[in-house]
Amino acid sequence: MHELETLIRAVPDFPQPGVVFRDVTPLLADAGAFARCIDALAEPWLGQGVHAVCGIESRGFIFGAALAQKLNAGFVPLRKPGKLPPPVVGMDYALEYGHDRLEVRAGALQPGERALLVDDVLATGGTLAAAQALLGRLDVALVGAAVVIELPALRGRSRWQGEAPLHALLRY
Ligand code: IMP
Repeated sequence: MHELETLIRAVPDFPQPGVVFRDVTPLLADAGAFARCIDALAEPWLGQGVHAVCGIESRGFIFGAALAQKLNAGFVPLRKPGKLPPPVVGMDYALEYGHDRLEVRAGALQPGERALLVDDVLATGGTLAAAQALLGRLDVALVGAAVVIELPALRGRSRWQGEAPLHALLRY
């Protein structure tokens, strides 16, 4: 077992019955493990010329900001609606029940800029697909995506478009 796996708590029936929530906060609270997690997340992207790390609200901010430091890149938050002051560029996406939206500050990313997407968990893939579509709308050069945890049973990877790599550290 990956040493980091022991620091991710499985919480049954949260936030609703039937869901097993993967809680990364014990990993974040362990200085050595958090540092090793960031090293491992960064490894495939070293030397790839990543200029901006785009973290998805909210746990993507924690991993993304640390990763940006490691890669000597800037950090750009992709936020839920109404959090960033205008002007913003947004992308709506469907959830199982209802819809949500991601926004980025207009001008935060330039056309052709080499960007990496980061989130904590890849579940159904809707969030990451929306983030990818948002960066596509801005003509960003997407280098790839990094997630800490992939839940392969939910087939989120199938919603990732194109050739850029999608790397996951752990799978449950
Ligand atoms: P998806 O859009 O279904 O892939 O869900 C991914 C988003 O939901 C990510 O932004 C995650 O932070 C969050 N998420 C989904 N499942 C979990 C979980 O088990 N633990 C923590 N976050 C989760």
